[in-house]
Amino acid sequence: MPSFITLTFRICLFMLFPLLAHAGLPQSASVPGGVAVVPLGSVSADVAMPQSWLEGQPVLVTADRGQWYAVVGLALDTKPGAHELLVKVGDETKAMAFEVGTKDYPKQHVTIKDKGKVNLSPENEARAGREIAVILGLKHYWRDAQDTDLDFILPAKGELSGRFGLRRIFNGEPRNSHVGLDVAVDRGTPVMSSARGRVLAVDDYFFNGKTIFVDHGNGLITMYCHLDRLDVQAGQAVGKGQRIGLSGMTGRASGPHLHWSVILNGAMVDPELFIPVTP
Ligand SMILES: [Zn+2]
Repeated sequence: MPSFITLTFRICLFMLFPLLAHAGLPQSASVPGGVAVVPLGSVSADVAMPQSWLEGQPVLVTADRGQWYAVVGLALDTKPGAHELLVKVGDETKAMAFEVGTKDYPKQHVTIKDKGKVNLSPENEARAGREIAVILGLKHYWRDAQDTDLDFILPAKGELSGRFGLRRIFNGEPRNSHVGLDVAVDRGTPVMSSARGRVLAVDDYFFNGKTIFVDHGNGLITMYCHLDRLDVQAGQAVGKGQRIGLSGMTGRASGPHLHWSVILNGAMVDPELFIPVTP
């Protein structure tokens, strides 16, 4: 049984944690597909952690070097201009304005040899539709967590081949933008969890192929697609850098690669904002 002194020490450490914590904030890029890092004031021992919402969706709040920050995911279809974050500090709830700028993402032409993966049959259309609904639910999953790690590692060793936000044209036809980061790796390359978390779902989807979702808490989720092999199960705890599967080209892929997505408060955002800047 812990002594009174040990217990007091532990309680003090718990209260000091937000004051000392260094969350490794992502780069702030207040643009569609980016992340707005909004300061919410100083951490103090007598005020609880603020809470925050964007359009009714809870938003991640973290402490970094004595300051609270809302870390807000901005979907690619976010309209540039003034936006409002709802912030609750103690008993007081107030609206906080922040600005979203513009960003022009380049176009990319992609050739998919399997035409059945571009122009879908009615059965595949129905399957893909069902899966999009399931994925939409997973993207909005929320678990309260004390210790969300925002300092990610690139989940596979390889060149970055397809950047986030590319406006894709499949076999000459405009399709949805690229909402992830592609890493060029051969089939069978180890794929690691980009931070500690819990496996939220593991499945084999029409477009994304064999896929793993890892939940890092507070609405921060990573997704790993086109895998050849899945080494984890839903509900399993994973560490940063732990192998979760092997890369491949399952689903709709023009060749073997890892597609990695980062989801924040339900929005797909640029994963490069979470990893050390590449030259
Ligand atoms: Zn991709």
